Amino acid sequence: MTQAYPYETHDYDVVVVGAGGAGLRATLGMAEQGLRTACVTKVFPTRSHTVAAQGGIAASLGNMGPDSWQWHLYDTVKGSDWLGDTDAMEYLAREAPKAVYELEHYGVPFSRTDEGKIYQRPFGGHTTEYGEGPPVQRTCAAADRTGHAILHTLYGQSLKEKAEFYIEFFALDLIITDGRCTGVVCWKLDDGTIHVFNAKMVVLATGGYGRAYFSATSAHTCTGDGGGMAARAGLALQDMEFVQFHPTGIYGSGCLITEGARGEGGYLTNSNGERFMERYAPTYKDLASRDVVSRCMTIEIREGRGVGPNKDHIHLHLNHLPKETLDLRLPGISESARIFAGVDLTKEPIPVLPTVHYNMGGIPTNYWGEVLAPTPENPDAIFPGLMAVGEAGCASVHGANRLGSNSLIDLVVFGRAAAIKAREVVDPKSATPPTNKVEVDRALSRLDGLRNANGAIPTADLRLEMQRTMQADAAVFRTDKTLAEGVEKMGKVAAKMADIKVTDRSLVWNSDLMETLELTNLMPNALATIVAAEARKESRGAHAHEDWPNRDDVNWRKHSLAKVEDTKVTLAFRPVHLEPLTKYEDGGIDPKKIAPKARVY
Ligand SMILES: Cc1cc2nc3c(=O)[nH]c(=O)nc-3n(C[C@H](O)[C@H](O)[C@H](O)COP(=O)(O)OP(=O)(O)OC[C@H]3O[C@@H](n4cnc5c(N)ncnc54)[C@H](O)[C@@H]3O)c2cc1C
Repeated sequence: MTQAYPYETHDYDVVVVGAGGAGLRATLGMAEQGLRTACVTKVFPTRSHTVAAQGGIAASLGNMGPDSWQWHLYDTVKGSDWLGDTDAMEYLAREAPKAVYELEHYGVPFSRTDEGKIYQRPFGGHTTEYGEGPPVQRTCAAADRTGHAILHTLYGQSLKEKAEFYIEFFALDLIITDGRCTGVVCWKLDDGTIHVFNAKMVVLATGGYGRAYFSATSAHTCTGDGGGMAARAGLALQDMEFVQFHPTGIYGSGCLITEGARGEGGYLTNSNGERFMERYAPTYKDLASRDVVSRCMTIEIREGRGVGPNKDHIHLHLNHLPKETLDLRLPGISESARIFAGVDLTKEPIPVLPTVHYNMGGIPTNYWGEVLAPTPENPDAIFPGLMAVGEAGCASVHGANRLGSNSLIDLVVFGRAAAIKAREVVDPKSATPPTNKVEVDRALSRLDGLRNANGAIPTADLRLEMQRTMQADAAVFRTDKTLAEGVEKMGKVAAKMADIKVTDRSLVWNSDLMETLELTNLMPNALATIVAAEARKESRGAHAHEDWPNRDDVNWRKHSLAKVEDTKVTLAFRPVHLEPLTKYEDGGIDPKKIAPKARVY
């Protein structure tokens, strides 16, 4: 190290890294039960990406017609293309109504029906009668600002419960002592000081890594920092090949138009003015699941039926809807359409394109949020002292494809579950683990190395190279050729990290250094994604492989595990959990209903 870095230490029962929906729900739950809880976040809590969630949160409340958690479970299993873990998916569907009523009681200002119940809208892939009946209205919404409402409420509640917030603190690395996580090392962005948090439990709630791609709906802060920290601690990342493209990013800016727009009656057309989804998904049409709609749009464009001078996008129509519906239910996207596409959506269609939106993969966990370190002997082995929740984790409830509005519910159900589990495994009376100086030094010398990096490639240039490679070679459709080329190119891109150039040497508000640290986190996520995609010789959910167009349950109904060390990725696999938690005789789902079959909408 070129310089010594003095640091301050803090002792807690639990440290949650991240203050999005998942981090705040975990923080609140931990603090409520009297655990000394710190929440560390690189952005102000209510600026986390969850604030941008528009459409809503799924739970089978049945406020707008019949619904049941068993139907929600079925839809989630089918949406996942039979790759989700059944126990976790059941836990999600079963606990969802409880978690939403809790949010309501905490103060989330949901939109209301005339009778004063929580308003629910239809969303893609959510059905009645195990996919046999009409679309269900399951997605609870606060107009088109649901994430905003949830985040503000949870932050207020966490403060009330005396959780302690460390805001604009950047988590650098986990501290691992004798095979367990005992804390995290952080850099305080506004004054350059270093802070070591010792804790009995660390919870990673750092969100997704959408920014590994060139065009994404996610915030610039979605850089997979949790996955990066886990990879550096030697842990595997799971199912990284499954990246969700949302059908309706605004052409050009990538800014999202919620699926709620189609839920409220919007539809897509090609250059012939044809509602083409009727051809591909006769039953659910524009409300088929996201992977399906994104692929159909891509096919229309490829076959020359795209709109615009370059025939390279699709139109989303809302102009037939009553102005009152737009004002009441979709006020935010009316504004987005005006600002980012220059269209008045009461009069004109919005130009849209499938855009990277969500990462199904992440740090593997069980349905209590406990991180797994699978071995061949025990694929469910727990890594002690560490949890992961929200988009950073992989429980795995979304499998190969997430249904719209199933992420917000994942955040609160599993944030809450992590707190319930912590009550069991964290003893407030036990001693906090002492500072592991060797580990702290390791993290700080990495920081110091990057701070003084004096190579030839500026961070922004290398990031762009990575983003363009991922966008081109790990896209909506993939082939053996694009993936093989992508793996080779990404290997070279990652190797260039050794030649990175950081210009600003200060420690105060050094965005150059912060973006470089973020790039060191994006890189292992991107590498794991493309290598796992290249290995998977089938098509499933969001992984659409043109040379392997069918799903192959015999050979590939298994989770991928990618360990990343510098530029090297080692793959392994673990079985999918097939057993639900509740037996059929006791009111659980009929196992015959969730047996694999062709996925048609
Ligand atoms: C535009 C948009 C709209 C969406 N709409 C919906 C919807 O309607 N319904 C739905 O179900 N899903 C929706 N999603 C998906 C869903 O919103 C996200 O998956 C979810 O909000 C992720 O929440 P999170 O808590 O895991 O992470 P985030 O909300 O991304 O928060 C991550 C947190 O981690 C912190 N952090 C990260 N790295 C570090 C670090 N190194 N040090 C310290 N802190 C760190 C950040 O400061 C932040 O607080 C949408 C996503 C987008 C992008």
